[in-house]
Amino acid sequence: MKKYFLPFMLLAVFEAVAVALWLIEGKFFYFLNFSYIGISVSLGIFLFIRKYRYARRVAQLLVGLYMLVYLGFLSGENMQIEGFWYYLFTGVFEAATIHYAVAKIFGPLLFGRGFCGYACWTAMVLDFLPYKLPKKPGKKLGWLRYVTFALSFFFVSFLFLAHVGNLERVMFWAFVIGNLLYYALGILLAFVFQDNRAFCKYLCPVTVFLKPMSYFSLLRITCNKDRCISCGKCIKSCPMEVDMTDNSRNRKNATECILCFECVKSCPKDAL
Ligand code: SF4
Ligand code: SF4
Ligand code: SF4
Repeated sequence: MKKYFLPFMLLAVFEAVAVALWLIEGKFFYFLNFSYIGISVSLGIFLFIRKYRYARRVAQLLVGLYMLVYLGFLSGENMQIEGFWYYLFTGVFEAATIHYAVAKIFGPLLFGRGFCGYACWTAMVLDFLPYKLPKKPGKKLGWLRYVTFALSFFFVSFLFLAHVGNLERVMFWAFVIGNLLYYALGILLAFVFQDNRAFCKYLCPVTVFLKPMSYFSLLRITCNKDRCISCGKCIKSCPMEVDMTDNSRNRKNATECILCFECVKSCPKDAL
């Protein structure tokens, strides 16, 4: 049972959040929402431990489709960064603000960029593309994420300053158009850089929150130096080009890890 500690621990954390939000906000929906996400992510990790090949993809599709189709398209909640700014400016702690607090701002202190590996609806599609491993070393274009971050902030600020009417409807269409734009750019970048995760590495504005918080993540890949034979297989298997054999928090691409466990799978010595 010891090896199943992680999925059970994550499920317990999600259930605690589910119950707390249900009681604080008085909405049973929050209990259902966070229970569903917790069960989906824990199931993915449970299947990974059982050595099911597509374990992470199962969690990614269960959570990603739920957030994109049910919360986004059917319920009209803008769960993108623009939705976060929108709810923040209106002073409402619900929908995107709760999502950001749990998955992208405070949650990463515990589970790093687990959202990027198991729940993101943008990466859910990008991970189907042919370049699971980057064909060339990454470029120094990470500064672009600050541009998209600023654009999203200024876009929502403008809506408020210009007193644009029917903001809820505008935010719904911003969600639809924003997602189409992300998918188009993500697919284009994947082919240009021959790297499925190029969008995550260079353009995604959410990483402005995710990267600094995941630096302190409790859950992280570490290397047992007594077992490691420096074969380098783990580094070659990493979609995010992390040097996971270095245990320091400042290792190469430290805050890029999406906890996909591909390095763990590839290690012949169980050193990770
Ligand atoms: S970096 Fe952005 S697009 Fe990529 S998985 Fe994370 S949140 Fe999704
Ligand atoms: S291969 Fe390992 S280091 Fe690279 S992103 Fe996946 S879990 Fe993180
Ligand atoms: S795959 Fe395992 S043994 Fe090889 S370098 Fe990585 S941690 Fe060390």
